[in-house]
Amino acid sequence: MNTAQRPESLKHVLPSLEDIERSRATLLDHLPASGIGESTATIHLQKDVLAGLNRASESPHYYGFVTGGATPIATLADNLVTKADNSPQVHLPNETLATEVEDRALRMVCELLDLPPDNWPHRTFTTGATASNVVGLACGRDYVVQHAAREKGNSVSVAEDGMHKAMRIAGLEDLQVLTTVPHSSLRNAASIVGLGRSAVIDVGLEGKKHCFDMRELEQRLRQPGVASIVAVSCAEVNTGFFATTGNDMKHLRESCDEYGAWLHVDAAFGLLARILPANEDFTHLRSGVAGLDLADSIAGDAHKLLNVPYDCGILLSRHLSLATQVFQNSNAVYLNTASSETTASVSRSIPSPLNIGIENSRRFRALPVYASLAAYGRTGYLDMLVRQIHLARAIALFVLESADYELLPAPLNHHVTDEERLANIYIIVIFRPKNEELNGRLVRAVNATRRIYISGTQWEGKPAARFAVANWQAEVEWDLEVVKGVLLEVARSTD
Ligand SMILES: *Cc1c(COP(=O)(O)O)cnc(C)c1O
Repeated sequence: MNTAQRPESLKHVLPSLEDIERSRATLLDHLPASGIGESTATIHLQKDVLAGLNRASESPHYYGFVTGGATPIATLADNLVTKADNSPQVHLPNETLATEVEDRALRMVCELLDLPPDNWPHRTFTTGATASNVVGLACGRDYVVQHAAREKGNSVSVAEDGMHKAMRIAGLEDLQVLTTVPHSSLRNAASIVGLGRSAVIDVGLEGKKHCFDMRELEQRLRQPGVASIVAVSCAEVNTGFFATTGNDMKHLRESCDEYGAWLHVDAAFGLLARILPANEDFTHLRSGVAGLDLADSIAGDAHKLLNVPYDCGILLSRHLSLATQVFQNSNAVYLNTASSETTASVSRSIPSPLNIGIENSRRFRALPVYASLAAYGRTGYLDMLVRQIHLARAIALFVLESADYELLPAPLNHHVTDEERLANIYIIVIFRPKNEELNGRLVRAVNATRRIYISGTQWEGKPAARFAVANWQAEVEWDLEVVKGVLLEVARSTD
C-alpha cells in the first residue's frame, strides 16, 4: 500500500453543491427509445455522473460511518471480476477456478485473523455484515430450536418446518437475541429471519452500556420455554468500544453451553483488531477481540477495514452441516456440482456457496480480497491498521487538549487518565464542541468545508460528532493537520 503516492489534486472529499446540481441536471429523465450510444454514454458517465459522486473511497479525509476505501490492487481485481463475470455459486472445478479462489481467500482471511480455517468450515462471502448477521441468526435460530426439541426427545428443523411448527414441537414460547448496543442491522436480521425486531433485547450494564450485565443475561437465559441467541457487538459503531474483554467470551461460551444458546459475534470492523501485536499500545484492543474463537458464528465486513470495494462481507461459523440444512438448494438438480469428477482432493471438499449462503447467483467477491491479502500480506494490513489507530488517537488527543471540544464518553470518574482514554480508542473518535450553539451545527459546518467529512450522532440525548478512520491511505503526518485546520476554523467561525 503505497500511500506516498497520494494524489495532491484530491483536495475535496465531497463534490460542491453546484457540482451535484449540475450533475443531477444531466441525468436522463426517461428510457431513451434508441440509446444515446456507447461513446455518448461514456462521456456522460465520465464527465457528468462521476462529478456528482462523493470521494468516500478515494479520499483519506472521508471520516463518515465506517466505510473503508479500496486498495489499488483490490480495485484492479474488482475490474477483473467484472471482466470475467463468473458467478461462483456452484463449485464446478473442471470449468472455473472461481470457487477455489474463493476458498483460498476465505482461508487467508481466517489465517489473518488467527481463526484456524478448519475450525470454521462454514465460511462464505456475503454482501456485508448485515447479510452476515442474517446468515448467523438464521443458523443460530435453527440451532437453539433444534436443541430445545432434542431435550424433549423430538426432532425438528426451522428451515424445514418453519418457526411456528418448530417452536411448538420444541415446546418453546419465545426466542430472544440478547445483546448490548446492537448495530441497527441486528434488528433487521432478527426481522428477516422471523424472530422480530422486538426479540433483540439490550442487556447492557448501567453506566457501561457496551458491556454485558452478566447477571441479567444469566437470568434471561434461564427462563423456561425461551431459547436464546447471544450477540456480541465486537466494536460498536458509535464509540468503537468492544462488548467483551478478558475472559468475558469464555463466560459467555459457558453460559451458552449450559442453556443451549448460540453465540454470535457482530465484528463488522472489530474483527481486524485481531491482527494487532501484543504490545502495550494495543493491550486494550486485543482484549476486546480475545476469545472470538469461542463463538458459533462471526459476522465481518471486508468492505470496511479490509479496504476492498463494495460490496463484500464475511460470515464464519463452526457449524457446516447446520448451514447446509438451512441453505441447501435441495431441488435444483441442474445445479448439482461436478466435484466428484475432479482429481484434486482439496477441491472436492469445497461446498458449493449456494448451499451455505443466501444467493443463487452473486458476484465473484473473493477476488479483490484474495488480491489484496496476496499483495500486502499480514504486515501490510498491520501497518495500515496501526496508521488508522494512530490517526484516530492523534485526533482524540487534539480534542482532549482543545479548549473548544470535549472527548466522549466522559470518563466514569477522575481516576481515569487521559492515557487510558486514548488507549481505549480503536478507529472511532466521538466528541462534541463545548459550545452548545456550535454543537447544533457542527457536523454541517465541518462538512460544508468539503475538505473532510464526519458523521453526526447522538450521545446522552445531545448531538455529537464522530470520526471513523477506515481508509487505507490514513497517515497521521498528513491527515492530522487537515483535521485540526478544519476543527479550529469551524470553532472560530460565528454563525
Ligand atoms: C457496518 C456494520 C454493520 C452493517 O454492515 P454492512 O456492511 O453495512 O451491511 C453491522 N454491524 C456493525 C457492528 C457494523 O459496524
